[in-house]
Amino acid sequence: NAAETGPNGDASKLRITLTQSRKAVPPPEEQIFGKIYTDHMVVVSFDPAIGWLDPEIRPYGPLSIDPSASIFQYGTSVFEGMKAYLGPDGKARLFRPEHNMARLKKSADRLALPSFDEYEVLKLITKLVALESRWIPETKGHSLYIRPTIIGTRPSIGVRASDSAILYIILSPTGPYFRISKPISLLAVNEPVRAWPGGTGGHKVATNYSPTFKPQQHAEKLGYDQILWMVGEKVTEVGAMNFFVVIKRDDNDLDIITPPLDGTILPGITRKSVLALAAAHPSHTVLSGLPDVVRLHAHERELTMSDLRTWSAEGRLLEAFATGTAAIVAGIGRIGFEGSDIRLPENEGGLGPVAKALFERITDIQTGRTEWENWGVL
Ligand code: PMP
Repeated sequence: NAAETGPNGDASKLRITLTQSRKAVPPPEEQIFGKIYTDHMVVVSFDPAIGWLDPEIRPYGPLSIDPSASIFQYGTSVFEGMKAYLGPDGKARLFRPEHNMARLKKSADRLALPSFDEYEVLKLITKLVALESRWIPETKGHSLYIRPTIIGTRPSIGVRASDSAILYIILSPTGPYFRISKPISLLAVNEPVRAWPGGTGGHKVATNYSPTFKPQQHAEKLGYDQILWMVGEKVTEVGAMNFFVVIKRDDNDLDIITPPLDGTILPGITRKSVLALAAAHPSHTVLSGLPDVVRLHAHERELTMSDLRTWSAEGRLLEAFATGTAAIVAGIGRIGFEGSDIRLPENEGGLGPVAKALFERITDIQTGRTEWENWGVL
């Protein structure tokens, strides 16, 4: 295995070529998700005979790739989405980045792309973010989005694993993912499916995303913001976010429920964090804004549209929300399925009390306002 015998993309061997023409950082209102990129990027190539070569930081710009390359023919591409957040102390933090690295490694393995040393890649991210620190927005709710990507560059149309690759990292300053503070609407869809048992839904591979664009356009035509993906009867996740509901129990405690990671759902890092924070409240009273007496019970269990309909009819479906790096926590206002809508209770600002408390706590940890379990990494 060349990754183990050759150079390993050692971050200490990083070569830096600075741009001759630094771009102006656009004002906050022009920081729209994925529209603008910073001045530099990390590039590391994997050569089948050598392994990962020495990493480079160079001016942001096009890559030169053979037209027969695996990425173009067979979609060998895996990626991550993470952010650097500037806190009131002026320091940039990453949020639980080791989980992104572990997920990227699993995604690469699923597509038989070369493995890599997570710590070296994390060091490269930190170095790039430090170099581009003037791009990290100070505005509340804004951050620097980080997109590490690995693509297969094997220049052959033979249908087989790509034994050469490029790992690159690009950065994009971004404001809130949903620009309006009102809840989103979902169309629950069980055909076509995004993922299926035994498929790649649990990995962040590019080929999970492109087949969702057409159904997403259809949902938008019908007046819905995003799709709630189903597999048979079960609801799985929302667009590029995980799905949660808050249910009032007979004893007046709250159940907070998300579907289990059965391979059809991306294991979101925000999802994992929400489950942990919900489980810690109120023994640590972690969710500010929620009364200490509110007891949350976090569950990973299967959810069907008929569960949601029943709870809604009984007045027990208090909140539904979606979680992900881009939006953190997004409130859901209605869910359409088979011609009728389930409507959620309305809340000022678009988030119910539990979703809002989670949003506040997670953003406080991301920006270093609150310390929690070393989740905010300098
Ligand atoms: N599901 C899908 C399909 C996604 O692409 C994402 C974004 N990575 C998520 C869920 C949320 O994951 P995370 O909280 O790690 O951003």
